[in-house]
Amino acid sequence: MSVDQASARMSADLFVDGWWTAGRAGTLENVDPGNGQVVGTVSLATAGQVAEAIAAAENVFPAWSGLTGAARGDVLRRAAGLLAERTEEAVATILLETGKTEADARGEIGRAVQTLRWNGEQAGRIQASVFPGVVAGSRRTSVPAPLGAVAVVTAWNFPAVLATRKLGAALAAGCTVVFKASEFAPATARLIVELLAEAGLPAGVVNLVFGDPRAVSEQLTSSPAIKALSFTGSTAVGKALAAQAAPNLIRTVLELGGHAPVLVMADADVDHVVAVTAGAKFGSAGQSCVAPTRYIVHESRYQDLVAKLTAAAEAHVLGHGTEEGVTLGAVADQRRVDALVRLVRDAVEQGGTITTGGRQVDRDGFFFEPTVIAGPSADAGILSEEPFGPVATVSSFSTVDEAIDAANAAPYAFAAYLFTDSLRIRDEVARRVNASNLGVNQLAPSLPDVPLGGLGNSGYGYEGGLEGILAFTQLRLISETPG
Ligand code: NAD
Repeated sequence: MSVDQASARMSADLFVDGWWTAGRAGTLENVDPGNGQVVGTVSLATAGQVAEAIAAAENVFPAWSGLTGAARGDVLRRAAGLLAERTEEAVATILLETGKTEADARGEIGRAVQTLRWNGEQAGRIQASVFPGVVAGSRRTSVPAPLGAVAVVTAWNFPAVLATRKLGAALAAGCTVVFKASEFAPATARLIVELLAEAGLPAGVVNLVFGDPRAVSEQLTSSPAIKALSFTGSTAVGKALAAQAAPNLIRTVLELGGHAPVLVMADADVDHVVAVTAGAKFGSAGQSCVAPTRYIVHESRYQDLVAKLTAAAEAHVLGHGTEEGVTLGAVADQRRVDALVRLVRDAVEQGGTITTGGRQVDRDGFFFEPTVIAGPSADAGILSEEPFGPVATVSSFSTVDEAIDAANAAPYAFAAYLFTDSLRIRDEVARRVNASNLGVNQLAPSLPDVPLGGLGNSGYGYEGGLEGILAFTQLRLISETPG
C-alpha cells in the first residue's frame, strides 16, 4: 500500500471540460476518520462552474454517443487496467479518507476494477430487438439510445465502487456525465476520473464537481440539459432529489439506505451463520447498505447465536487502517458516533442487553466499539432506523410467520439473509420477505454482472447487469418498410 504516494494527493479539484480547475466557492477539509487529521482539501464549485460542467457534458454528447460501443468500451477497459496498476495508491487513498481497513479498501478497489472492465466489455454488446412488422415486408426495431448528459451523485462509503458502477454504465450506454461525488471522499473520485481521462476519455465526457450538495443538485435537476439522475445515498436525500427531479420529469435511479435482516432458522448451523455474516457486519465499520444488522433467530438457536456473534465482535482489532493487524476501521465522523450512541442508549431503554461494545472508543478519530444488542423490544429505534455502524441486534422468534413479520417491520427493503436447509422455508421467505436481494446461506454481494435495486425506502431502478446500462437509455421504436 502506497500511503506516502496517496497522502501527497488527498486533495481534489474540479474537472470541467477536460481541465482540472480550482473551485471558486472555497474549499472544505478532507478529514481522515481514522485519526481526525486533515489530509487534504476539496474544492467547491460556484454555480457558474457547475453550469460550465453541464454545458461541457451537453456539447460533447453527440460525439461520445456517436462512437461505437466497442470504442467506448475500450476506454473503460483501459481505465480498469490503469486502476489495477495503481491499486496500491488507490487502496491507500480510500483508506485515508474513509477510515476503512486495508482489507476493506483492497476489496473495494478489486471490485471497482471488475466493474469498469465488465461495463467496458458490455458497451460493445448493447443490442437492438427486431420484431416483425404489421405490413408485409416491413419490420420494427426497438433501439436503446443513450439519454444524453446525466447527473451522477454518490455517497462516501464506497467511493470507488459507486463511482465505477454509475460512470461505467452511463459511459457504456453513450451518456455524458456531471459527477457530483461526495465531499467526504473526494480524492478517490478524483483518482477514478483522472484514470478515465488517462485512458482516453474525451474532454467533457465526465465532469467532476463538488460543492454545496443541495445547491448543486438543484442546479442539475433544473437544467434542461440533464436527462437523468442516478443517486446513491441516504433515503432522506434520495426522497429530496426525487422531488427535485419530478417537475422536469428527469428520470431517476435511487440506490438508498438498507437495514438487512438475517433470518436464522431452527435447522441453521450457527457457526456458519456467524462465519458468513460477521465480516459483512463489521466490514467498513458496518457502513454498508447491505450490512447484516437485525439478526432474527429461532428461539432454540438464540443463546448460541448471541454468544458466537459477541465473540466474533470481540475478536476485532480496532484502529487506523495503516496499523498492522487492524480488522475494524472508523466510522465517518462524530455525527455518526453520536447517532450510534443515541440508538444504543434507546435500545437499552427498550429492553435490550449490550453483550459487547456500546461505546465510542477513546482514541483519535471516530471509532465505535463493535456492538451486539440482544433482545431489544420491537419499539427500539435501532430496529427501524439504519444504524450505519458496527452494531447488530439479535431478536428471537418461534414461528416462521413471526420471523418474516419481524424482518418486514423495517421500512427498508434491500438485502436480506436467510440460513436454513429447508426448501419450503426458502421459498416462503423468498416470496414474502421485503427484500430485493436475498442471500440464502451466503452473502448477497452487488457485483457488476447482475441487476440490483431497492424497494420501498431503499429506492428504485437498477444498477449492474445490462439493466443498469439500459437505465441510461431510451428504447426508440422504428417501424419501417423498405422504400
Ligand atoms: P448522503 O445521502 O448524506 O449523501 C449522498 C450524496 O448526496 C453525497 O454526494 C452528498 O453530498 C449528497 N447530498 C447530501 N445532502 C444533500 C442534499 N440535501 N441535497 C442534495 N444532495 C445531497 O449519504 P452518505 O452519508 O454519503 O451515504 C450513506 C447512505 O448511502 C446510507 O444510507 C447507505 O445505506 C446509502 N448507500 C446505499 C447504497 C445502495 O446501493 N443502495 C450503497 C451505498 C450507500
